[in-house]
Amino acid sequence: MGNFDSIKREVLDSSRWLSEHGYLGQLCSGGNISVSVPGEKIVAITPSGRSYFSLDLNDICVIDFDQNPIESNLPPSIEAGMHIGIYQNRSDVHAVIHTHQPFASVLAIINQPIPALFDEITVEIGHEVEIIPYAFSGSPELVENVTAKLGNACHCYLIQNHGALCLGADMKRALKNSELLENVAQIYSQALASGQQIQKLPPSAIDYFAAMRKLRFK
Ligand SMILES: [Zn+2]
Repeated sequence: MGNFDSIKREVLDSSRWLSEHGYLGQLCSGGNISVSVPGEKIVAITPSGRSYFSLDLNDICVIDFDQNPIESNLPPSIEAGMHIGIYQNRSDVHAVIHTHQPFASVLAIINQPIPALFDEITVEIGHEVEIIPYAFSGSPELVENVTAKLGNACHCYLIQNHGALCLGADMKRALKNSELLENVAQIYSQALASGQQIQKLPPSAIDYFAAMRKLRFK
């Protein structure tokens, strides 16, 4: 068993779950997933351009924060710089999931941030799912646009004309946040389509949940 097999297993298993549940596509290779090693500048990340069902444990790339290979048979995702930029700017985050999940992507193409709508979402994800401005996949501009938004301490973002970005203290929580984001994005997009007035959480509730998040996500 290799030194990094446990984090490679987390990346592989979560990428399969996300593929099976429509977050990445079954035949396509959209999105990318990573886990960082707490206290070390090391990341396990999905490889570039491969269907997730074709991967085995040895195909998951382990790289350092300068993208030097540590254990890699394949080139890492072209979004590795984005994942590393997140780990460098958010010490509370040790798992990153980027997907093209459908309902979050609907809001990403109509430039619609998600306000605070439900208690659980506001506690787990934060007070707003903001839009990250568009830039080419894998570009330094996209890394800059992502890192510029991280100061809001939220755990989900929408990337304009692209997809979703979900963060977590570990992979279990990042996966949960991906599912919560897709649920709230589906509800919000259908509520917007109804043309009816949308009730947001009252400010007192948002303040209360913000205080809870400060205690939970230091
Ligand atoms: Zn993408």
